[in-house]
Amino acid sequence: MEQHTVAIIGGGPGGYVTAIRLQQYGIDTVVFEKERLGGVCLNWGCIPTKALVKVADLFSELHHVEEFGLSIENPKYDYAKIYERKNQVVEKLVSGLEFVFKKRQIPVIKKAVKAFEKHGDSYLISTETSTIQASYVIIATGSKPKELPTFKIDGENILSSRDILRLQELPERLVVVGGGVIGCEFASIFAQLGVEIQIIEFLPQLISTEDEEISKRLAMALKKTGIKIHLNTAVESWKSANSELQISLSNGKEITTDKILLSVGRAPVFEIECKNFEINIEKDAITINNNFETSQPNLFAIGDVTAKMLLAHTASKQGLLTAEIIKNRIVGTESRIEELRYENIPRCTFTNPEIGSIGLTESQAKKQYDEILVGKFPFSANGKALGLGNVFGFVKTIADKKSNKILGMHIIGPQATELIAEGGIIIQSGMKLDEALKIVFAHPTLSEAVAESIEDLEKMSIHSM
Ligand SMILES: Cc1cc2nc3c(=O)[nH]c(=O)nc-3n(C[C@H](O)[C@H](O)[C@H](O)COP(=O)(O)OP(=O)(O)OC[C@H]3O[C@@H](n4cnc5c(N)ncnc54)[C@H](O)[C@@H]3O)c2cc1C
Repeated sequence: MEQHTVAIIGGGPGGYVTAIRLQQYGIDTVVFEKERLGGVCLNWGCIPTKALVKVADLFSELHHVEEFGLSIENPKYDYAKIYERKNQVVEKLVSGLEFVFKKRQIPVIKKAVKAFEKHGDSYLISTETSTIQASYVIIATGSKPKELPTFKIDGENILSSRDILRLQELPERLVVVGGGVIGCEFASIFAQLGVEIQIIEFLPQLISTEDEEISKRLAMALKKTGIKIHLNTAVESWKSANSELQISLSNGKEITTDKILLSVGRAPVFEIECKNFEINIEKDAITINNNFETSQPNLFAIGDVTAKMLLAHTASKQGLLTAEIIKNRIVGTESRIEELRYENIPRCTFTNPEIGSIGLTESQAKKQYDEILVGKFPFSANGKALGLGNVFGFVKTIADKKSNKILGMHIIGPQATELIAEGGIIIQSGMKLDEALKIVFAHPTLSEAVAESIEDLEKMSIHSM
């Protein structure tokens, strides 16, 4: 029987990053992947959507070139070409990753793992055709779209995020059920390409995990693009009639559309039989401790399947730390791995305008601290943003008044998803206000808005009133 030190189930950003790091440590590792390396992220998530975001944003910009003294008459697009470019971006990245695996001689078994079995101190991992033995196993099997009792994904009328990325022609109308990150990103992309969009969100705000003020600004911007937003509203049922889809809403209204995108969250995927042992699972997610271990020794889980924070960079970071823990166990050192603090992981939403955030929202900070400071700076007072012709939004920084520790940063506006890396450094290093004020931000840059929002914590921002 084939034997390996580590077996990783799932080659997404959790599994593949971990495999490369283990190989760098010189640890023999095998990856099982039933589809393609890169997982949802590279094939059906982060990367193809961001290829579309670029085109949608560019197309919108073309409609506003006159303010720059340029003229383009009647900009048009060919969705078949946009679709093709998106696929090329994915292909380039995934084939590049496959090349990296080949070069590094990391074996990939392109089969679904069906069963696990404990075998002394190690594990037997079986696909339909073969079994291998490994001393350590990392489960990185990801997640799948959730459904509603009356809204089941059928790939024809009710689409998942994967289905919608497969459409080669855009519908005239699209109803997005669920105004979370994925729903809002698709709504923003397709609205900019001229699709009539309605978002139905059960909760009182879009992207409920974001700061309320940021979320309100996002709603304002999406409405400007022509998107209709129904908050505090549930979808109840749907039917197909006269070649259109009719949806009944909880507020008694009926709306019609051509397609429905169901984006009501994602559920962990773990469809593997554990033959002679059990692992703890809560609400479909594999339970892990701070060392990413399941309830069984040397059996780890990382990424979406743990439902800690369904983001690619969370999966990768969990994996890198797991690789370090396994290496330490193999070489017998007990060096302590610093605990992963999920609240210090940045969250990005690639709508137009973008959102980048980290740490506590204003309402969370108010609940946890006696008194807080809030500093804000609008992009409308930032020279670079003015030059770019993109001044919608602001940077908001939150600190504890007593200790002056920076607790959160929330950005909506140009390059917010890049700018939030600065918040990441500030918050991860536990900086206080006086330390953050020592940083010199280059001029003229959007990052000066970050600096001024920090200065505004003491109402000392130079360019705001
Ligand atoms: C539309 C969309 C856009 C997104 N955009 C972003 C974004 O911009 N930024 C961001 O951070 N996150 C984004 N995400 C989330 C991100 O894709 C996930 O958080 C990330 O992919 C999780 O990584 P993972 O390794 O845990 O799982 P996955 O990427 O889901 O990979 C799991 C892999 O395991 C394989 N697998 C499952 N079961 C088995 C089995 N039994 N045997 C063998 N292989 C198996 C699957 O085929 C899959 O390839 C997006 C998600 C979607 C759907």
